Amino acid sequence: MQPREIAALLDRVGSLDGRIDRQLVDEHLAERAITRWTEALAEVPATLPDSSWDVGRAVRGYYEQRGGDNSARYRPIEPHDILAAWAPHRAGLMQRHTDPAPPVDPDNVAGYLAELRRSRAAVATGRTAPVEQHRELTAGEVDPELAERLDKIGSPIPPAVRQQLVAYRPIRAQREAAVAAGRPDPLAVACTWCGAPIGQPCRSRRMNLAGEARANRRRSPHPSRLDAAAQEVAA
Ligand SMILES: [Zn+2]
Repeated sequence: MQPREIAALLDRVGSLDGRIDRQLVDEHLAERAITRWTEALAEVPATLPDSSWDVGRAVRGYYEQRGGDNSARYRPIEPHDILAAWAPHRAGLMQRHTDPAPPVDPDNVAGYLAELRRSRAAVATGRTAPVEQHRELTAGEVDPELAERLDKIGSPIPPAVRQQLVAYRPIRAQREAAVAAGRPDPLAVACTWCGAPIGQPCRSRRMNLAGEARANRRRSPHPSRLDAAAQEVAA
C-alpha cells in the first residue's frame, strides 16, 4: 500500500477506535503513523481485483472479533494484525501461481531466476494475478528435436535451472540427463520385464521360495527396457 492508501486506512481505523482517532489529530503523530504503517504494509495490497481481499474489511474484522463496544479493553489494531489477516490470501495466490517460464533466454540463469522471483513477488503482493497455466515451452536456444523430447517429459524449466533441482527429483533428472545426452530414455517405454508403466521406474521384485514378493524397490531400468527404449529412438 502507498502512503495515500495508508492515510485512508488509518482514517478508517480512527472511525472505529477512538484511541487512534485522537493520535491522528496530532499532525506529527499522524505523519509518523502513516510512515510506520506504510513501511510495514508495503507488500500488502489495499484490495485484490477479485474482491477476495479488502484491507478495510480486515480492519473491521479485527474490531468485530474483539467485542464491539468493549474495544477499549483491547489494544488498538497494529500493522502485524493486517499482515496476519493478509497471510492466508497471499498463500492462496502463491498456491495458484505456476511459475510460467519467463521471457528470458534460459541460458541466462541469473536473469531467468531474477525474473521468476520478480513475477512471484508481484503475485505475492497482489500486483499481478497468479498465472495458472501449465506446460508451456518458451522459445529459447533449445534444439527443436531436444525441445520436443523434453516437452514429452513435461518440463518447462530450462536445463541450467533444472540442474539445481536434481537433488529433489532424481528420477526426472536421470530421464532428462539421458535425453540431453542423446541416450534413450528408458522410462519413455513400459517395462515388459517388471511391468513398470511409462514414466515409472523399474521395480525389483524378489520372490521367496513360496513365490511371494519380498521386495519391491525402485531400481535402475531393466536391460530389456533399455533395449526397447533404444529401438524406440531408432524407429
Ligand atoms: Zn523393469
